[in-house]
Amino acid sequence: MRKNIVAGNWKMNTTLEEGVELANNVNALLKERKPNCDVVVCVPFTHLTSVNAVLEPELVGLGAENCSEHVKGAYTGEVSASMVKSTGAKYVILGHSERRQYFGENNEQLLAKTQLALENGLTPIFCVGEVLEERENGSYNDVVQGQVEALFSLSPEDFSKIVIAYEPVWAIGTGKTATAEQAQDMHAHIRKVVESKYGKEIADNTSILYGGSCKPSNAKELFAKPDVDGGLIGGAALDAESFMGIVDAFN
Ligand code: PEP
Repeated sequence: MRKNIVAGNWKMNTTLEEGVELANNVNALLKERKPNCDVVVCVPFTHLTSVNAVLEPELVGLGAENCSEHVKGAYTGEVSASMVKSTGAKYVILGHSERRQYFGENNEQLLAKTQLALENGLTPIFCVGEVLEERENGSYNDVVQGQVEALFSLSPEDFSKIVIAYEPVWAIGTGKTATAEQAQDMHAHIRKVVESKYGKEIADNTSILYGGSCKPSNAKELFAKPDVDGGLIGGAALDAESFMGIVDAFN
């Protein structure tokens, strides 16, 4: 069956020193408990190697927040999937709405990134989600369906390795969470879309995380929904205690 996962997305926060301290705190708090989910922290590229050195891999997985759509070469400032992999990372967030919105990432690039991540043995946490206007004009199911279908040239074997994160853009960093019902409806829709292409077994085994102002006070209600398999956590992942409060929602 699919895994429950709570993944932190640190975004462009923390100096190296602060990031290592946060990772140490997360690791220490995880040592004290038996979480009923996999725990992942996705950190800035500059922090990957140092954070990897302080995390115990059986307690918490490490991830990056992006990778290049190119294999290697003359792409100044870019970081490839193989570079990410070489730090000890196991996951990579792809298609975050901030990347789509501020850096113009499109479906074609995201497919290329996903393929390279998979070729390098990384698990993509592939983000989808509608903006406020699309929620309000009722096109949100179609928008998210299109974002998921952008990966439909992947083989079933490859697609089965992906984690999906549904993150309504209007809920990210706004304090405005989707209701548990809204999250459940969209997660069920995504699972149906996956099933239509890859069949029931792969759909049932795909972890679909919710992201968007998830915090200890609302995580339990969200995670109790049958198609919500955990969370991708931004702001609340920057404090080890509150991140752990979300992990504990699975207990
Ligand atoms: C995110 O950026 O992935 C996110 C969900 O952010 P926040 O939890 O801060 O809304």
